[in-house]
Amino acid sequence: MVIMAFAAWLHPSNSVRSSATFSRMVPLMSRTAGPRSSTTQPRVVVIGAGAAGLSAAADLRAAGIAPVVIEKSRGIGGRLATRRRDGAQFDHGAPSVSAVSEDGAAWLDAAMQSGHATEWAAAGDTAGPQHVGLPGASGLCRGLAEGLDIRFSTEVATARRKDGLWRLGTSAGDLVAEMVIAAIPAPQADRLFGHLDRVSTELAGVTMAPAWTLMVQFEAAFDAPPPDPAPSGVFSAILCDSAKPGRDAPGCWVAHATAPFSRAHLERDRDEMAGMLVAALAEAMGPLPPTRLAMAHRWRFARTDTAAGLPVLAYPDDALFLAGDWTLGALADHAVQSGRAAARAALSVMSGG
Ligand SMILES: Cc1cc2nc3c(=O)[nH]c(=O)nc-3n(C[C@H](O)[C@H](O)[C@H](O)COP(=O)(O)OP(=O)(O)OC[C@H]3O[C@@H](n4cnc5c(N)ncnc54)[C@H](O)[C@@H]3O)c2cc1C
Repeated sequence: MVIMAFAAWLHPSNSVRSSATFSRMVPLMSRTAGPRSSTTQPRVVVIGAGAAGLSAAADLRAAGIAPVVIEKSRGIGGRLATRRRDGAQFDHGAPSVSAVSEDGAAWLDAAMQSGHATEWAAAGDTAGPQHVGLPGASGLCRGLAEGLDIRFSTEVATARRKDGLWRLGTSAGDLVAEMVIAAIPAPQADRLFGHLDRVSTELAGVTMAPAWTLMVQFEAAFDAPPPDPAPSGVFSAILCDSAKPGRDAPGCWVAHATAPFSRAHLERDRDEMAGMLVAALAEAMGPLPPTRLAMAHRWRFARTDTAAGLPVLAYPDDALFLAGDWTLGALADHAVQSGRAAARAALSVMSGG
């Protein structure tokens, strides 16, 4: 039924795109079908505009499908995140990324070539240069997002399948979709799709750890070498964000708390955590200049502890594909691999594969 529904939706004008997969889809198209607006009833919905969702959506678009991407926040990037406040700027999610796969390398090469990323080696980091986004972390996803229909500030709250269609209850009203790629952290995917027995069983083995992140700007530029975070017992990473290329605001630092510390204090108030983490930073670094700004961000699902072990959880009978870093590991590269795998799986179902 899904295949037939897609066949009716695909319009011959889409066939200018020349993906091999799409070519295999063309014979399935109804010759009498006219164009149908994806704004009123999108046929493929991608939930999440992080690295996984945008990788999936970009590949679908390249194959001639026009997905609608639903994103609950106001911008792209997900955990490749940048917070701007009062002239200060902090990459408060992944501080930098590197490639561990061909998909990841292609993603970062494209970001470098389009000027959305550059290389950076953090002081004291012996692992060699990593990639940072320009002008902030979400720049790493800018190229993936080009040309996509993304609905921001829209949260998918419910997902129910009825009569061969997905009915998504969103904060901006209901959406009907024939196929869904959910590229969101595993616990959030479980909340939406865990009523399907297979989904909840397969997600039960995936675990993700939280992280509290401190963003602090000092009154003066402060370029002390970042200390080894381990002896603090509080932090897993301490970075001078202002030292990254293309950052104009001086004195901006980011410090990520360890998973055990973050778990122990998860429900504390953000302001209280900011104070507690500034005090811990002073203990780790010695006397600090006066702070101009200090904020704490709670990541409930920061890093994967236990991955699913497959690049995508695919439920072709339900036209549902679950993607995200957690499928393979804890890296942005894993998210890109997973998003691309989800797009391939979805296209294969559309083409009857
Ligand atoms: C503190 C921290 C440090 C990190 N350090 C590194 C590192 O050094 N190197 C590295 O490679 N990676 C690192 N990472 C991990 C990296 O950021 C992630 O692997 C990657 O960004 C995950 O991408 P994703 O698309 O799978 O998920 P996300 O980036 O989480 O994207 C999911 C998107 O879905 C949206 N969403 C969720 N639920 C809904 C809903 N119901 N409706 C609509 N939208 C929804 C979210 O708002 C989000 O934009 C770090 C992450 C954190 C938090």
